[in-house]
Amino acid sequence: MPLYPSVDLHMHTTYSDGLDTPTALVAKASELGVWNLAITDHDTVDGLPEGIEAGQRYGVQVMSGIELTVQFEDYRDIHILGYDFDPADAAFAACIQRMQEARLERGLEILRRVNRMLGEVGKAPIDEQRVLARAQGAVARPHLAQELVEQGCVETFQEAFQDYLVPCDVPKATLSPQDAFRMVAEAGGICSLAHPGTLSSDPVEIERLLTTFGRMGLAGVEAYHHCHQPSFIDFLCQCARQLNLIVTGGSDYHGRPQGAVLGFLDVNKPVPESVWTELMAARTP
Ligand SMILES: [Zn+2]
Ligand SMILES: [Zn+2]
Repeated sequence: MPLYPSVDLHMHTTYSDGLDTPTALVAKASELGVWNLAITDHDTVDGLPEGIEAGQRYGVQVMSGIELTVQFEDYRDIHILGYDFDPADAAFAACIQRMQEARLERGLEILRRVNRMLGEVGKAPIDEQRVLARAQGAVARPHLAQELVEQGCVETFQEAFQDYLVPCDVPKATLSPQDAFRMVAEAGGICSLAHPGTLSSDPVEIERLLTTFGRMGLAGVEAYHHCHQPSFIDFLCQCARQLNLIVTGGSDYHGRPQGAVLGFLDVNKPVPESVWTELMAARTP
């Protein structure tokens, strides 16, 4: 296996929790010789047009991607990677829009509850416009915690959560795996289960989840991820063959100085090229 990377199917930009803009990400990839990549921001496709346009300029093939968070049984945080879909598909775009609206509405409802609590103890409310500006429209609890600290209502993030954000919490809107598989399939794409090692280290449980999701429409499994040990990667590849799933992989790059390295799973371990060829072979014509 070559020691230089050429593909990466799991990367984040400033459109979710990454630090590089899509253009900066594609520029870095081309410098490294990563000619095939997928941008997979959390629950949004807003960075794709910029990424695809940059890809054309830098000669990098940028595939549409997304990392959706779904809930199943007691699992609250399952990540599903969607690939090679049409981000402009009307039903897909509407679904993403609804999810974004639900997240914003949740953030604002928590803000209203926090302000009610602050009012009860005679403290000044948090300014909604300031929070919206800080959060660039996607208000989440860390933004509110930051405001509470800056206003001097609490001293630390931890206190902000303990005293205000936990008591004022509003449940998240949920998406099922079936919903995710369906919306990606209807937009012409396929799905892979991201980093299964974060769900369980028990092979029996992983096999059960992959079998169940496979029946629901899952097409692949992300065996190659920095959180998996080599023996766990082998196990996932074996599972994939048995269950007729493709094997995907990527760095889960976020652009953080101490974090995952673009194109690599570990030192001297590039993401294998096979993940791109398998995905290309599996895509719907
Ligand atoms: Zn993830
Ligand atoms: Zn990710």
